[in-house]
Amino acid sequence: MNERAAKKRLTPFSLQNTLLACFVFFVLAAVICIGAGVNRFTEKLFASYARENIQARNREIAEVMAEQYDPLNAAFDEAALETMGMYFVHQGYIVQVRGVNGNVIWDARACDMEQCASVITEIQTRMENEHRLSGAFRRDHYFLNNVKNGLGELIGEISIETYGPFFYSKDESEFLKTLNSFLVAAGLVFIVLGVVISALLASGLSRPILRAAEASRRISGGEFSVRIPGRHFTRELGELSRSVNGLAAALENGERWQKRLTADIAHELRTPLTCLQGNIEAMIDGVREPDAERLASCHEEVRRLHKLVDDLNELSVIERENLSLHKTDFDLAKLLEAAAERFTLAAAEKGIAIRVEVSALPVNADYDRLMQVFVNLLSNAVKYTEAAKAAVITIRGTRLKGRCEVTVSDTGSGIAPEALPHIFERFYRADTSRGRGTGGAGIGLSIAAAIAAAHGGTITAASEEGKGSVFTVSFDG
Ligand code: ADP
Repeated sequence: MNERAAKKRLTPFSLQNTLLACFVFFVLAAVICIGAGVNRFTEKLFASYARENIQARNREIAEVMAEQYDPLNAAFDEAALETMGMYFVHQGYIVQVRGVNGNVIWDARACDMEQCASVITEIQTRMENEHRLSGAFRRDHYFLNNVKNGLGELIGEISIETYGPFFYSKDESEFLKTLNSFLVAAGLVFIVLGVVISALLASGLSRPILRAAEASRRISGGEFSVRIPGRHFTRELGELSRSVNGLAAALENGERWQKRLTADIAHELRTPLTCLQGNIEAMIDGVREPDAERLASCHEEVRRLHKLVDDLNELSVIERENLSLHKTDFDLAKLLEAAAERFTLAAAEKGIAIRVEVSALPVNADYDRLMQVFVNLLSNAVKYTEAAKAAVITIRGTRLKGRCEVTVSDTGSGIAPEALPHIFERFYRADTSRGRGTGGAGIGLSIAAAIAAAHGGTITAASEEGKGSVFTVSFDG
């Protein structure tokens, strides 16, 4: 607990909180910038539209008012001017029509002062409050020309008062308000979505890291069975979990290997030591004479123990440490001939013929280690072949699809089907009594298999009891 508190003090920001804070900051900044940008852009666009619209509306109003001129009477239809004028007042345009000599023919303010004042106040308040625009009513003047007889003579003048520099109609104000509300709502939705997705993402990224840290802590405490479960949505996190799991599995295997090795060694040492102890005690107690034969028997047990220790040492180097191969280019046929040569004498003593049926086979491999493999196979073949008339050991070698394949077959005792799957296991002897008689500790094939594996290869065995065995070594070379 104290350790955790100390760690927290040292690194106050968790990955999850840091990621969350960064994501939220960027989402907020993006939403605010985009929202404000869109708002400014639409307002600018709308303002220029409103400006142009007011100019066009002013010209339209002038035309409409000019149309109320009756050329026959050389006068305006005042009733029509009033109807149209009050209609324009409602839209925010305060109109005054004057004749050619400057006399006022119709004036909106004079007609309905109250209505004009209310329209002016409404527009002024709306523009100031809703659109933060401070302006004032300005007057624009236009000449009125007779549009009816096509001559276009001057018939008067019109002045139109509007809120400047521009103003929005009620509908336009409503539209802008709706647009702004939509932008705010969309912004809020994006912020909420952004925060939720950021929280999920941050926890999705940090949780597997925390799990890996927790698993590593437990592994370092000796819990090698710990595994990080589940799938990860990023390749890197999956890789992290897989490597922690791989580390745990390797440590678990190592631990199991160590326990099994200790048990196996204890088991293997017990028999010769008991035998030695019994013999020596009998000689000390005077029960048996320490003659040459008994001493030779003790010496044989000591020799066997020595060989066992040597084999164990060899196996531990090959199995535990990463077996580093010293690869060179050589002819495998020569190696097989040299290996066979070592056993010619021992085989001849038992009446066994050794045939090497291999033509030149260039390979790139570790000469000494491969020699170890074939010496082992030939030693077994000689060891487990009884002297017989037609006893023969055959070595064949070929290259198949880039892989070298060597078979060592004998016409010996063969291996029982129930023993065959276990012969590559450490300390396994198909027939214990016979194994002891032949002096093997059941390690030779384990070493051979480990060397083949280091070459990216395998050793397999096929056998028929009483007829013989075939060992096949195949490797990349
Ligand atoms: P060992 O030192 O006992 O020979 P190995 O690991 O070399 O140990 O072999 C394991 C067992 O496989 C042997 O004890 C033997 O029973 C069996 N074996 C190996 N090679 C042959 C063979 N060529 N013929 C019959 N049995 C064999």
